Amino acid sequence: MQTQSLSTSTGDILHAAHLLRAGELVAFPTETVYGLGAMVFNESAVRAIFTAKGRPSDNPLIVHCADRTDVERVAINIPPLFDALFERFCPGPLTMLLERHIAVPDAVTAGLNTVAVRFPAHPVAETLIRTAGEPLVAPSANRSGRPSPTQAQHVMNDLAGRIAAVIDGGSCEVGIESTVLNILTNPPVILRPGSITKEMLEDVVGYEVVHGSYAIKTSNDGISEVSFPTLAPGMKYRHYAPEARIILVDSMAEALQTARGIEGQQGNLVWILSNSVKKPEHDIFLLSEQTLYAMFRNADAQNVGTLILVCDPHVRNNEGLMNRIQKAASRK
Ligand code: AMP
Ligand code: MG
Repeated sequence: MQTQSLSTSTGDILHAAHLLRAGELVAFPTETVYGLGAMVFNESAVRAIFTAKGRPSDNPLIVHCADRTDVERVAINIPPLFDALFERFCPGPLTMLLERHIAVPDAVTAGLNTVAVRFPAHPVAETLIRTAGEPLVAPSANRSGRPSPTQAQHVMNDLAGRIAAVIDGGSCEVGIESTVLNILTNPPVILRPGSITKEMLEDVVGYEVVHGSYAIKTSNDGISEVSFPTLAPGMKYRHYAPEARIILVDSMAEALQTARGIEGQQGNLVWILSNSVKKPEHDIFLLSEQTLYAMFRNADAQNVGTLILVCDPHVRNNEGLMNRIQKAASRK
């Protein structure tokens, strides 16, 4: 199969929608990362996503909707909290867990009785969903184990020959995957941190929202137990880390000192990533949500031996970014 590269023109989006309706897979831009789309009610197309990505079948997919009315097609018993959060954050990088509608194929939810729903804030994604005529499942459009794609070329590098088309909408604005929130538990639990933070959610919820790893419920008799899933199933999988060794430091001064120590060793290419870089220079690049995954891909392409990441207070306070950095750094 030759993977078509499509533009964001009306004609190309219409063509992409035709491909989807014919059961094909099409990658498209969202504000977070590129998604690999399939029609939610076409079970064989949904299964093809797992094959194309090499994704474990027990890792459920997020359903991408264009309108609030789409939600009724995939979920039941929608609680008032959903609408409160919808009003504030949707469309945007927030995924919420709801009770699954019987019409949703097992392959989408990995057999769970919950379904994850989000509304991408990207005009191409919205138009594509509307034109296709039903919500689209859309995991990140990378091979499993690779960093999420933030440019169409990343999708091509991973999936060319395995999917029908990619719509090239340029670089993704947010750059890391959505916040995943379970609103069916009390308190609501952040299953995957992202750019919609705990504080932002609490502002709407009105009481405490907890992070997955701390989701311990205390029953009336005072016994603490973890009584509901506390992380998204996908979080148990080893996520991508570049070939380079990753070193986390607190400041640029520490980064430069560390780099000098390593560069003495022959042939060891060292890159520093820092949030305070105005313009990239020599081997110093910008560290941000938008650039992290692209830098991991670039580092591999350039055979970088060591990546030094400056985790200053600004970076440390970014819970979504820090989560992805720690996952990458802890692999080796
Ligand atoms: P991706 O689209 O590749 O960024 O992955 C979607 C994330 O959402 C994964 O971590 C999934 O495990 C998580 N997810 C999707 N559906 C559910 C669900 N029903 N319950 C819990 N987590 C989910
Ligand atoms: Mg993914």
